[in-house]
Amino acid sequence: MSSLARFPRELDSLERDLLLWVLPKERSGYAEYRTFVEAWPVVAAGRRGEGNYILAEPGWVVDIDSPLPQLLAYGVVEHALGALTISLRERFGRQLEFELEGGSDCIDLAALRQIRRWSFSEWLPSQPCPSCRSRIREVTMATTAGQALVLVLCSKDHRIWVQDGQTGVNALIPVTGFYNELMLQTGIHDPKIALDPKSLFELPGAYSDSDLISAFASYNQLRNKVALAGDLILAGQHKVNWIQGIVGTLTGKKKQPGHKKEF
Ligand SMILES: [Zn+2]
Repeated sequence: MSSLARFPRELDSLERDLLLWVLPKERSGYAEYRTFVEAWPVVAAGRRGEGNYILAEPGWVVDIDSPLPQLLAYGVVEHALGALTISLRERFGRQLEFELEGGSDCIDLAALRQIRRWSFSEWLPSQPCPSCRSRIREVTMATTAGQALVLVLCSKDHRIWVQDGQTGVNALIPVTGFYNELMLQTGIHDPKIALDPKSLFELPGAYSDSDLISAFASYNQLRNKVALAGDLILAGQHKVNWIQGIVGTLTGKKKQPGHKKEF
């Protein structure tokens, strides 16, 4: 990575290789981002220090004051001296922010003994989690127009992503936002549960597939993470609130009556 704070500059070959690697060529949904990486120069440093930079279309006035865009792609190269992480964020206007962490200047990955490398972008249905290699929960989803998607939860990493079968993109879903919608959709307002997104991963199986699909449908309406053709098919009724019973038993409290949404 170049430490010279002179802009604009071209991406160096390591930066370019790693950014393109987390945007797999064979997945059509990443193609637009690959063209940005290929075409746009580095025009500014980001707000997060060494390794954080912004690509932009020439002439675009860079904005580093707006909230950091959500993560689009994330990968890790584990090597003999540690690990290098690659984060690429969603496009904001005509700018694109990335961060390479854990690599000192001019690190020569080719010369290092690489232990393994993985990214969320490369995951395919029925594979284990690319990060921890654990089994993960897959919830198959479909839209009224026949679009196939898979909602994935890794309890070990506390990660959620959704694969769009058409574009091949694995969209990383922020846990807190998703969990808020899950609480709304299931009508849970016991603060012990509602304010604790970790419980989604610590009580695997507490939520039905249909609860999770409803939560994603609602989240996606707000954030438009995945472009949907038609509406998501929501199968069956919510089997709600037995999680409240479990937690009530554990904490000695009875579950709250009523299902009014308070959020
Ligand atoms: Zn995992």
